[in-house]
Amino acid sequence: MMKTNYHTHTIRCKHAVGADESYVKSAILAGFDELGFSDHVPWPFEDGFTSKIRMTMGQYRDYVDSILLLKEKYRDKIRICLGLECEYFEEYKDWLIELKKSDEIEYLIFGNHFAYPENSSYYEGYYGECIKTTEDLEKYKNATLKGIESGLFAYVAHPDLFMRCYPEFDSYCEKISEEICKKAKEKNILLEYNISGFPYCEKRGYIGYPAKKFWEIAKEYDCKCIIGYDAHDNHDLEQEIYWNKGIKMIEEIGIQRVERLSF
Ligand SMILES: [Zn+2]
Ligand SMILES: [Zn+2]
Repeated sequence: MMKTNYHTHTIRCKHAVGADESYVKSAILAGFDELGFSDHVPWPFEDGFTSKIRMTMGQYRDYVDSILLLKEKYRDKIRICLGLECEYFEEYKDWLIELKKSDEIEYLIFGNHFAYPENSSYYEGYYGECIKTTEDLEKYKNATLKGIESGLFAYVAHPDLFMRCYPEFDSYCEKISEEICKKAKEKNILLEYNISGFPYCEKRGYIGYPAKKFWEIAKEYDCKCIIGYDAHDNHDLEQEIYWNKGIKMIEEIGIQRVERLSF
């Protein structure tokens, strides 16, 4: 069985810890075959706005250079890949396409955290923390479908993020899960089984994600999954407990797991 992770952050996002090289060392220690960095993309905010949850545009070059340096330095020990985690915003779509064309970026993952950028007057905060009504669920689903439709992404990160603090997996959750999984199958895009949800939701007593019922629906629609650590601390990668728990759940549900991302 290959051990891979394509969802890794760096300190530049202002809510992660550990030097870039520490993530590589932890991944080698934990026996990973591939490690992909996918820090939060620095959107080109036009009004001088500085986001509290992502690198600035000024840090972007350093991010790329640092990961490429590590890729070269550790090439005999582990395969390092360079990516970004992005929301899907219509206004930045062309910019993102151009960025992806610069062949340094190998892949993009779709982290649908909110429907409008942080500097927008429509911005309502982090999805997982603001989804309380069926209207919120509907908004989340619509933004997810748009991102999948764009064809820009290698996979959908935490597609069940709407369960971050929604109290129960009700019939409306079922409905939006069906729509998301149907679209994922249609567009042949992978869904990420995000194991960072385990400790987050255990600590807070939420049903949370990964949400078993979501994945049962994904299985019904014959979707494929890939495990993601969503590491914000290099030590996350050394933790086997949630990886093993994820593998066990995936096998129980019977959903097909892809080990390696191709791009
Ligand atoms: Zn993050
Ligand atoms: Zn992430």
